Amino acid sequence: MFKPPPEILEADYPVFKPAHDVGEWARSVFIDPDGPLSNPDHDHLNLATILFVWSSHTFKSQGRVVAATAQTGSQRGGGPGKKEWQESLYYEWHGGALPTFVITLCAPFFIEADPTSVCSVIEHELYHCGQAMDRHGEPIYIDGMPRFTMRGHDVEEFIGVVQRYGAVHPSMIELQRALNSPPEISSAKVSDVFCGCGARL
Ligand SMILES: [Zn+2]
Repeated sequence: MFKPPPEILEADYPVFKPAHDVGEWARSVFIDPDGPLSNPDHDHLNLATILFVWSSHTFKSQGRVVAATAQTGSQRGGGPGKKEWQESLYYEWHGGALPTFVITLCAPFFIEADPTSVCSVIEHELYHCGQAMDRHGEPIYIDGMPRFTMRGHDVEEFIGVVQRYGAVHPSMIELQRALNSPPEISSAKVSDVFCGCGARL
């Protein structure tokens, strides 16, 4: 299992570094159809490029510690020059091309995390790297290439509402089914870290 480069943990200010070894590992384990933990939900990512980046520091979001984030390589808005500045780093770290997605991993979490938690966090971020669907729920292709997009969570609901009204939405019924069957890989340990999207990991 990979570990963050130790030198970035000593940085007094935020330092970012490409994590190509993690990218190769994640692709060979989860995305490659022959990978040991291959997941067909990530099939479209065989046609995407993903840049993994280490961050020396965790991020804070609404008072929570964020362990990892996912975003598109292509940036938008944010004031004159900001998009170009951010993208220029991605071009540099990704061999002169803009990656489809960028997954940032916060080193302090990964130093401590057990292998199962690492896998669950990385797969959480891979799930955010989605393929756009049409209104019939069919994946969209343009000239044979998936149309890539950021994907939100499958389930967003208040526990109190489920308690009072039950699992009515199809996604809740799917979740109920998943909760009622044992984990396919292994139970991730309970941790108090979050994805950049705000989800507990
Ligand atoms: Zn998330």
